[in-house]
Amino acid sequence: MISLSRLMEPTHTHPTDAHQAATVPLASVLAATCVLAAACAPAPVEDQSQPGMLAVTNATIIDGKGGEPVPDGVVVVEGDRIIAVGTAAEVTVPDGATIIDAAGGSVMPGLADMHVHMVGGWDGVSTDMLGYRRYLNSLLYAGVTTVLDVGNVLPFIQQIQAETEAARLAGPRVYMAGPLVDGPVPIWPPITYFTFEASAMRRHATQLAAAGVDALKGYAGLDAEMVDSLVQAGADFGLPVIVDLGSRGDYPAAVEAGVLARAHAPSGPLSDDEIAAMVEHGTASITTLAVLESFARRRLRDLAFLDHPLIAATTPPRFLDALREHATRTLSDEETAFAATIEERLAAAMANVKRLSDAGVLLVAGTDAPYPGVFQGEGIHRELELLVEAGLTPLQAISAATHHAARLMDADGEWGAISPGLAADLLVVRGNPAANIGATRDILVVIQRGVVLDRSRLVFSALDDPGFRTVGSVAAN
Ligand SMILES: [Zn+2]
Repeated sequence: MISLSRLMEPTHTHPTDAHQAATVPLASVLAATCVLAAACAPAPVEDQSQPGMLAVTNATIIDGKGGEPVPDGVVVVEGDRIIAVGTAAEVTVPDGATIIDAAGGSVMPGLADMHVHMVGGWDGVSTDMLGYRRYLNSLLYAGVTTVLDVGNVLPFIQQIQAETEAARLAGPRVYMAGPLVDGPVPIWPPITYFTFEASAMRRHATQLAAAGVDALKGYAGLDAEMVDSLVQAGADFGLPVIVDLGSRGDYPAAVEAGVLARAHAPSGPLSDDEIAAMVEHGTASITTLAVLESFARRRLRDLAFLDHPLIAATTPPRFLDALREHATRTLSDEETAFAATIEERLAAAMANVKRLSDAGVLLVAGTDAPYPGVFQGEGIHRELELLVEAGLTPLQAISAATHHAARLMDADGEWGAISPGLAADLLVVRGNPAANIGATRDILVVIQRGVVLDRSRLVFSALDDPGFRTVGSVAAN
């Protein structure tokens, strides 16, 4: 969730603010549509192959750490791990390995979207919790193998995490913050723990640590003392704090207090001193340019993007109808002015993202999906494009959505790069994203935990979708 109160403020009020190998025909892993209901029934999304030996060959390797792309590369996977990486001259493809011939394409780490809310729906306000299979599928379909949910109903996201981790439910690796920790007047009550005084933070942290959250999310109603208390309380349980403090938020104090990250790129004035303090304290910034583009309605001016397979293949038509209506209706003067203000903030955020990157702040890609035009899965590809528009190189943008994401969670020894020993979560695409970031969208194969996913089983089908309607509003009136 993005702090609407912040968005609605016209200005920042804070001043600083091998040879015998079996080859998988690509056609079998690229089947695009689901024709028969039987073929669409809930089932494991792995194809017939079980974790074993697998090799991606003839690929340009993009390692996720910003390394120079390796042409004519080979990545060998055994079980759920990458075991060898290098050029064809350096790496021998083991006998019996399943080969994925990526000629003309590239292999990169599976993508991470480190700012999502898995609540369903399309507009960021109404929810469709029961539609969880659909949005988990849309993430995997788009090659997103890791997400960080930074605000949700605690037991719901706990169960999503537990079931995806156990592989009883198809979905990405899920990190979670549980509910927002907000002040006494929460903006999103159903997904919030309220706080009336700083002393309550210990109780919140104790409960959330017991629930197994991976981080705490401090929200817009917290004053500096509360943020400090939250950071202290979290530290006792090894829980870092990610903050969205809204327009009046005291970010310099939060950085000083030791928060892990800002949940959104700064979209207002940002002094060199503030950036220096972030570098000094190791404060990261999640980017979420995509949600600003949504509120600015910039992306909604040309709806051709809705035909992109990553959206069209995974989204219920009724959601797309609602979005088209949202995008084309006549706006009030107030709405038009609001969108214009946000467009200025998008420009500011892009400039800030570039400055933060240049200064060495850890930039981590996130989208804040779902919002109008910000989709679970496709959204991170849009975020990559926006990061490049902001001035990052394609490799820097890719690092933000892979290795940097793992560093944020102190898990870069486990996933987020193409390196021996790391989790075999891989994306094979046509073309070379290092030259053209849009190539990340042109997906050939998604590999999760060393298994080639059958993406045809991730496609939305009205035949096996109950058609649940969204409900209510997560936001306070
Ligand atoms: Zn959010």
